[in-house]
Amino acid sequence: MRYALGRRMARWFGKRPLRMRNTRPIISFTFDDFPTSAYTGTEALFRQAGVHATFYTSIGLLGKTAPTGEIASRELFREVLSSPHEVGCHTFDHLGAFETPFGAYRASVERNLRELRSFDPLAKFDTHSYPISFPRTRTKRYVGNRFQACRAGGQIYNQGALDLAYLQSFFIERSRSNPTAIREQIERSVQANGWLIFSTHDVDDNPTVYGCTPALFESILEWSLASGALILPVRDALSACGIAAQSSLSE
Ligand SMILES: [Zn+2]
Repeated sequence: MRYALGRRMARWFGKRPLRMRNTRPIISFTFDDFPTSAYTGTEALFRQAGVHATFYTSIGLLGKTAPTGEIASRELFREVLSSPHEVGCHTFDHLGAFETPFGAYRASVERNLRELRSFDPLAKFDTHSYPISFPRTRTKRYVGNRFQACRAGGQIYNQGALDLAYLQSFFIERSRSNPTAIREQIERSVQANGWLIFSTHDVDDNPTVYGCTPALFESILEWSLASGALILPVRDALSACGIAAQSSLSE
C-alpha cells in the first residue's frame, strides 16, 4: 500500500513540467549500472549507425560484479567519458530511490559527482537515473533540480509534455519475450511525435533478468533507425525538445 501510494506521489509531486518542442520524434537508448556488456554488446552497432547512447553509472560499482553482471572497469568508464556517448549519474552506491532515506540518497548522488571529477575535473553529469525504483518526493525535488533531467521507468514514451524530474522510459527486459510490443511502442511514439527512452542493463548472449541479448538489441536499433526518429543521448534529446543546457547547476 505504502509502495503504491509512493509511486503515485513520485509521479505527481515535485514536477518540473516542460512542453516538448521537438520537430521530429526522438528515441534514446539508456543503460543503467553500466555493465561491461552494455558497451561491448552495443558499441559496434552504435558505431555503424552513427548514433550514441547514455550510460548511467554508479562509480562505486565500477570493476565489481552486480546483479546486472560484471560492471565496467574504471578504464572503460574513462574511455566512454571521453567519447560522444553520454555518461549519466546513478548513485555512487547504487542506492534505491524509494528504499533510501533522502539524506543518504543525496549524499550518494553528491559522492558520485565528486568521484566523477577525479576522472576529469571538468566532467559533469547532465542527467540522472533513479536506481531500482521511483523516487521519494523529497528526493525527486532535490535531484530534479540538481540535474537537467532525471529518468525513471513507466513503460511508456514521453509525449506532449515532459516532467524533467521524471522522464518516462521503457525497460527492454520487461518485454524481451514479446518483441512485437517493443516494435509497437516505437510506432506509437513516432506517430505521436514522442520521445521514447529505452532502458536496460546488460546486453549479453546470456543476459541477466535485467538485460537483453545483442540480437534483440540489434532489432530494436534497426526498427528505431527505420522509424525516422532522431536517435540521441538523453542530454542531446533535451536540447532537441527545446531545453537550453544549463551552464551551471546549483552546487
Ligand atoms: Zn541501477
